[in-house]
Amino acid sequence: MSRTLADTLSAQVTGPVLVPGDDGYDDEVAAFNLATTLRPDVAVGATSTQDVVAAVRAARAHGVPLVVHATGHGAEHPVTSGLLVSTRRLDAVHVDPAARTATVGAGVRWAAVAAAAAEHGLAPVAGSSPTVGVVGYLLGGGVGPFARSHGFSSD
Ligand SMILES: Cc1cc2nc3c(=O)[nH]c(=O)nc-3n(C[C@H](O)[C@H](O)[C@H](O)COP(=O)(O)OP(=O)(O)OC[C@H]3O[C@@H](n4cnc5c(N)ncnc54)[C@H](O)[C@@H]3O)c2cc1C
Repeated sequence: MSRTLADTLSAQVTGPVLVPGDDGYDDEVAAFNLATTLRPDVAVGATSTQDVVAAVRAARAHGVPLVVHATGHGAEHPVTSGLLVSTRRLDAVHVDPAARTATVGAGVRWAAVAAAAAEHGLAPVAGSSPTVGVVGYLLGGGVGPFARSHGFSSD
């Protein structure tokens, strides 16, 4: 099943499509949290929105679970099957200094936002770690050092 799914996706996805044993598989699924195990049947390294759409559709068509993996800072539950979408190549950052907003790709980490914002004399309401992913942090609420003065980052 995993090889069939991988072959199907390889024809549709620009990024790497990897199964256990492939070169690059271990790097693709590596997580910051070494206490958990990420060993999906197939790992997709998304490079675009289209790659993500293809992965979601393939997972649904094959009836397999799908997980999203940014940095693995928050990887708490082992993944032993299914399809994993890695977002780390989606690393675009755009800061609008007039609006004081940042638009980021799904794989962006806070250090990149801090650097881009600093060029405009701004700073993100981030957490304590520069290597935590922006999306995972915000989905979790985001209770960082600025919380007392600026509120939860998810606000
Ligand atoms: C050293 C360290 C310091 C930290 N400091 C703080 C802090 O100051 N304040 C604070 O609030 N938290 C802090 N955290 C916790 C951290 O914010 C959470 O673990 C956060 O969920 C990590 O997000 P991630 O994207 O980096 O990790 P991941 O493990 O890759 O993702 C975390 C979760 O979000 C999901 N996810 C990620 N991207 C997407 C996406 N694009 N779409 C859908 N789901 C997605 C993943 O599936 C996973 O369930 C810290 C963690 C560490 C290890």
